[in-house]
Amino acid sequence: MKLVFLGPPGAGKGTQAQVICEKLSIPHISTGDMLRSAIANKTPTGLKAKAYVESGALVPDEVLIEMVRERLSNADCANGYLLDGFPRTVHQASALDEIQAPDLVIDVDVSDDMLLKRLTGRRVCTKCGGTFHISTLENENVCPVCGAPLIQRKDDTPETISNRLSVYHTQTAPLIDFYSAAGKLRRVDGAAQPGEVTNAILLALGC
Ligand code: ADP
Ligand code: ZN
Repeated sequence: MKLVFLGPPGAGKGTQAQVICEKLSIPHISTGDMLRSAIANKTPTGLKAKAYVESGALVPDEVLIEMVRERLSNADCANGYLLDGFPRTVHQASALDEIQAPDLVIDVDVSDDMLLKRLTGRRVCTKCGGTFHISTLENENVCPVCGAPLIQRKDDTPETISNRLSVYHTQTAPLIDFYSAAGKLRRVDGAAQPGEVTNAILLALGC
């Protein structure tokens, strides 16, 4: 199955993607994770992307389209894929249709108020990649899964978050109509508990 997770930053796409990918045996392709690792490793793509990512702007379409084209050509995508964070513009969506069009697009819907709360309290593990919210952590600095240090992402500061939300509304939200018109859009309520969101997604996928 070829899937796209659409939805604003902080909607819980990454958390849901991990569960769904394991169930369907398809790779979880997060362009945000790919870019952060490219930046950390100072690859040519990372050097191009750094300033955009840190300010909450979108990295130019051509950079992302090439990155995804290459990733989807890997053998592990033979059974499908789950894209998380791509496409984010209509241009990227048209390019994806030419590379390997998705079967279904899940829109994880959450209000801006709730997104703001989630993102400002988000912490990520430096080792296992887990994502947590301070409201559920005993210690804000220690990963409850593996014990490694937790950090706040550089783009999870209040100013950058508000940039990312406005970028989402102007550039990415139009994809809701794009995929709706193609009959591929399924909407789920991302404000519910994680387990309930997973069930709603599985229902939408017919699994
Ligand atoms: P979020 O929590 O905002 O969903 P991601 O981890 O998906 O964050 O992405 C972080 C940043 O990486 C974005 O704010 C943007 O700068 C860059 N990025 C990720 N995917 C794309 C894309 N498809 N097009 C352009 N920029 C992207
Ligand atoms: Zn960890």
